[in-house]
Amino acid sequence: MTTPPQNADDARQIVKDEGIEFLFAQFVDMHGKPSAKLVPAHHIDDLLNDGAGFAGFAAGDIGQGPHDPDIIAMPDPSSLTILPWQPNVARFACDVTVEGEEWPYCPRTILRHALARLAEQGYELRIGAELEYFLVRKRPDGGIEIADPLDTLELPCYDMRALTRNLDFVSQVSTFVTKLGWDNYATDHEDANGQFEQNFQFTDALTTCDRSVFYRYMVESLAQQRGLIATFMPKPFGHLTGNGCHFHVSLWKDGENVFERDPAEDPRGLGLSEIGYRFVAGLMANAKAYIAVTAPTVNSYKRLVVGAPTSGATWAPAYVSYGYNNRTQMLRVPAGGRIEDRTVDGSCNPYLAATAMLAAGMDGIERELDPGDPNAANLYTLSAEEREKAGIELLPANLLDATRELERSDVLRRGLGKVRDGDYVDYFINVKRKEWQQAHEQITQWELDRYLQLY
Ligand SMILES: [Mg+2]
Repeated sequence: MTTPPQNADDARQIVKDEGIEFLFAQFVDMHGKPSAKLVPAHHIDDLLNDGAGFAGFAAGDIGQGPHDPDIIAMPDPSSLTILPWQPNVARFACDVTVEGEEWPYCPRTILRHALARLAEQGYELRIGAELEYFLVRKRPDGGIEIADPLDTLELPCYDMRALTRNLDFVSQVSTFVTKLGWDNYATDHEDANGQFEQNFQFTDALTTCDRSVFYRYMVESLAQQRGLIATFMPKPFGHLTGNGCHFHVSLWKDGENVFERDPAEDPRGLGLSEIGYRFVAGLMANAKAYIAVTAPTVNSYKRLVVGAPTSGATWAPAYVSYGYNNRTQMLRVPAGGRIEDRTVDGSCNPYLAATAMLAAGMDGIERELDPGDPNAANLYTLSAEEREKAGIELLPANLLDATRELERSDVLRRGLGKVRDGDYVDYFINVKRKEWQQAHEQITQWELDRYLQLY
């Protein structure tokens, strides 16, 4: 398959030509977890016309109770993706409907609606996602360890020997990514032991989100074939750098990147247009709220700290800030015309993260906000006094605080849209507060070590 299908007829033809025997009808819940039914290809007409039915309540947090009518996953023909390691199987990314109506709790639908509103203003959102992951193994005692026992360097980032030891795995992922037509252009050993990143080209936001869901599923499946676990969890090891999923965003109009301008004509020298700076300002103005969506788990906030892991830096943001090619900032402008948001982590639902960021950025454009001058400091060494003097605000320290910020945000309320009994934001917050509560009820080893005999 060289070009994706344009419509249902194209998809039927490709399924026939490629000898595809089975089709996954796949959708995600709030957490980005892929759920699917496997449909034999001779039922493709039924699938494309009528979708695949599921008990929504069983699938996860997708706005249903056990009493609700089935959710129906309706394939998007253009999302057809052949499993490179099992080429007689392909998946369709689906939108969820209920009784023939779009289901407003479907994250893919939420993003599609946001992109449609954006298109009415003549814009298109493009995103590149950097999905970092760890390769680990479960130990018999239930704990986890780095899959590669020799990966013990204090500064393992870009280590050629560690990459070489894992060549079998990462080169397979690379070959498959390119086979999918996404074009892998780099693979590296990341900052933590056992951590990797494999990049593919940016494209329109919906496609990148569909790809991100498939990518996580593919990498996890390939690891499982080797008896390993690939995890995108934000912080599996307390003493190591966590898994980011940095989003590189740009806005396009009539095929032109409207964030771009000649750095020589940009008084701040970053190569960002006026509208680009306004988008930055919108992200900054709403960061404390949207981070509940881009870093949506209890574990996320263990990544978003300044304190140094063994490699010396967390490479994760803790402050609301932006800067040039400076990885201590929340927002980095690594090259003219694009903004990297470093709040996003591997536990995000990419559709919701993209929607939330878009709402935040567009708020800056609508209100013509100015982000001020870029920050060039090493924010990891800034003292609290220096930070306060510079007017740099802190990001929420945990999921509970982030949900409180989200709750107050009308921008995010509008951006994520309405559901049957209110705003999606309130549904999201309700689920996330339960998650927070469950975590809070745990008594950790640290607490026992610290308090058991102190009191
Ligand atoms: Mg990285």
